[in-house]
Amino acid sequence: MTHELTFNTAMQFAYGEPAPVSPGIVRIVAENPSPLTFKGTNTYLLGMTELAVIDPGPKNEAHLAAILKAAGGRPIRQIIVTHAHRDHVDGADALKDATGAPILGYGRETFAPVGPETTPQGAEFIDYVFVPDVKIADGDVIAEKEWRLEAIHTPGHAPDHLAFALAGRNIIFSGDHVMAWNTTLVAPPEGSMADYVESLSRMLVRPESVYLPGHGGRLEDAQRTVRAYLLHRRWREEQVLEAIREGVGTIQSIVPVIYPTIDRKLTSAAALSVQAHVEHLIARGLVTCDGDPTWDRQLSPA
Ligand SMILES: [Zn+2]
Repeated sequence: MTHELTFNTAMQFAYGEPAPVSPGIVRIVAENPSPLTFKGTNTYLLGMTELAVIDPGPKNEAHLAAILKAAGGRPIRQIIVTHAHRDHVDGADALKDATGAPILGYGRETFAPVGPETTPQGAEFIDYVFVPDVKIADGDVIAEKEWRLEAIHTPGHAPDHLAFALAGRNIIFSGDHVMAWNTTLVAPPEGSMADYVESLSRMLVRPESVYLPGHGGRLEDAQRTVRAYLLHRRWREEQVLEAIREGVGTIQSIVPVIYPTIDRKLTSAAALSVQAHVEHLIARGLVTCDGDPTWDRQLSPA
């Protein structure tokens, strides 16, 4: 079993410049690079004469102007969001104001901020009050004459995450569920490892093999990446379980054991990722914890 994933971090782009990625699809990269967003958020324009915008991206005037310029006077009929994380959704209102297009998304059932504000799953990153104009559920179809999208509910990175399959085109807009540049962050309470593994498995039974992700370049042979993600998660889980069996008894102490070379900026993201694995192990009765698995609470093998 391969333990380390190989990532494709090659990406040809210039901020604000629409780049064709497939017939009738252009990508514009927003200038919000970070360790969690890679080069920035990808906004896709779909269609030739009537457009949908998939993930309007962050609130950024230059990015909004770039979207409108790329549309070139063609009507934007829908603004579709993959999930209500700020790097994908904050620009939606301004785009709606400029175009009159409705905002479509899953719509969260719970709106209360539940995480620490400064962690990757906290209020800084999530729009807890995002309410789409049109709620999209698993299997719903969004269509114009030239294109047809089918929504695939794919919770894990976010509970409201949707991917969109483009009918007849072998393409899925995969949002942050599956990306080529890195593994997806699964950080509780926003993220759920059980949901994530289940959502990855859902992708494997679909025929589409090209994914256009929320960050980074397109994935070819995408199911292979999905299988590698699943193997990688299993390997990480085994590492976490092994550490607990060896007496490394808290999330905090597990992090440096399994991420020995991590960038300090990503330590809390790594701790949350370990927490996601621990929760999944507890849910399946493989690990016990006296209460919720906070970062310094003792964990024991079951
Ligand atoms: Zn994102």
